[in-house]
Amino acid sequence: MLPHLRIFQPHPNVLAFYDGRVPGYRFAAGDNWVDDGALSLGIASYAIVDGEDALVYDTHVSVAHAQAIRAALEARGVRRITVVLSHWHLDHIAGNAVFADCEIVSCARTAVHMRDNRAAIEAGTYDGPPAIAPLVLPTRTFEDHLTLKIGTIAVELRHYDIHSDDGVVLWLPASRLLLAGDTLEDTVTYVAEPANLTRHVPELERLAALNPQRILPNHGCPERIASGGYGPGLIPATARYVRALIGMASGTQSPATPLRGLIAADLKDGTLIYYPDYEAVHARNVASVTGL
Ligand SMILES: [Zn+2]
Repeated sequence: MLPHLRIFQPHPNVLAFYDGRVPGYRFAAGDNWVDDGALSLGIASYAIVDGEDALVYDTHVSVAHAQAIRAALEARGVRRITVVLSHWHLDHIAGNAVFADCEIVSCARTAVHMRDNRAAIEAGTYDGPPAIAPLVLPTRTFEDHLTLKIGTIAVELRHYDIHSDDGVVLWLPASRLLLAGDTLEDTVTYVAEPANLTRHVPELERLAALNPQRILPNHGCPERIASGGYGPGLIPATARYVRALIGMASGTQSPATPLRGLIAADLKDGTLIYYPDYEAVHARNVASVTGL
């Protein structure tokens, strides 16, 4: 049913459930947000596992994906699951119903966004089809940060206004591992809230201050994710790109600069990896900041 879902183990207690970036493969017929934007770019959900306990970080793009995640965890002996949502966008919450018997944790704003848009999301009219019905809402929320214990592993949930005003990253202080949700993305960030871009720059600096050793974004290169993730340079690379977009809005940066040119230094040293489907993301980002 899910011929291209891959399970990676980027770190001893971390699993990645990666789907997408498969040429010619479509999850569903017709225009739909699962293929167009999620699987086309590639998307991972994660699990932090210790013994019988697991934290599932995002429930993926469909109920079928979430069922596969839950089955894989239970096959490994997991008995207790806590879900944490990175933010409210559909490709991160579509499988919530599979975890309706579990605690689902999000920041307060995520719950508000989901509640405000619930009717449209359940009708399949928010971002078009497929509908997510029923949309299962968070059962526990927090404002700024919250620490959970998954087996013996301390996991800090931290709120950042990057990409979406309800962004939540996971920080594992013992291993200095950052699970970044959509606050960071390779090849470039997807601008969902252009009016907030100037806020994203200091928020990225606050994120960099964690000083992570490795970073796992939800959208990125499968080989890089499978081999342990990105280096800390992904954060300043994202800030450079955001600043370039802000420059396009103010007229100091040409919107005509090709993507490969704009991020050339970060591509050259391997901080970022060019993936052609991000041309459409970049074009959309430029249009959203310049009003073109
Ligand atoms: Zn996403």
